Amino acid sequence: MNTPDARRGGLEVWAPSVVPPIGVELSNEQALAVAFRHLASYGFAENMAGHITWQLDGQTDMLVNPWGLWWQELTASDICTVDTEARVIRGKWDVTPAIHIHTELHRARSDARVVIHNHPYYVCVLAALGRLPDLLHQTGSLFLDDLCLVSSYDGEIDNPARAADLAAHIGQANLTILANHGVIATGRNLPEAVYRAASIERVCRLAYDIMLTGQPPSRMNWSDMAGMQKSLIERAADVYWAGAARMTIKADPEVLS
Ligand SMILES: [Zn+2]
Repeated sequence: MNTPDARRGGLEVWAPSVVPPIGVELSNEQALAVAFRHLASYGFAENMAGHITWQLDGQTDMLVNPWGLWWQELTASDICTVDTEARVIRGKWDVTPAIHIHTELHRARSDARVVIHNHPYYVCVLAALGRLPDLLHQTGSLFLDDLCLVSSYDGEIDNPARAADLAAHIGQANLTILANHGVIATGRNLPEAVYRAASIERVCRLAYDIMLTGQPPSRMNWSDMAGMQKSLIERAADVYWAGAARMTIKADPEVLS
């Protein structure tokens, strides 16, 4: 099969000389608390469901949210640390066995330093139809050749063996939709994973609304999308994150406590 050459994109085309900073130095726990609050404000979290895990570079332990707190109320001091067997080794709260989805994916994917899972509404509409979103807007290029579907639901993933099977199915994809359940987004760092998580909900909402029109959509070609994908990952993710952090901290500085 002939694969068309990808259009150029990303930092090789243009790199900004200056970018607006977050404005405050964040600890890892503070940054993670900000990520929870931001995604919750974006409609990504179904009340207290879901996790973000962050395996810091060079470490096997993971920062994670505890059981029972909603994403929008988390503060930096609520963040717990679990080991590769999902045992809490630091923190004042408990962590659910559902965390094995994360620990096994981290084990299988050394590049996936951050794993985000929850049940955002429009992702769940498509997940209930057992399908991936059509990529019909340039932001959808973020997910070009990077989507995975788990097409049937078979109950809670609450032990390491089932989670390892899921990780094997996911392979190298950075975005997986789980039928009748939700989504898993991964990234090499926190900005990349948060950007994918926020973007997939909007991509699914757009795909759903386009389906409702019953009209055939205009399509983008692979080459243009490949160039845009590079730009979104290399140029947009960090800038998105900095803005999300600024606005989240401004809305409630308590998130850092
Ligand atoms: Zn879930």
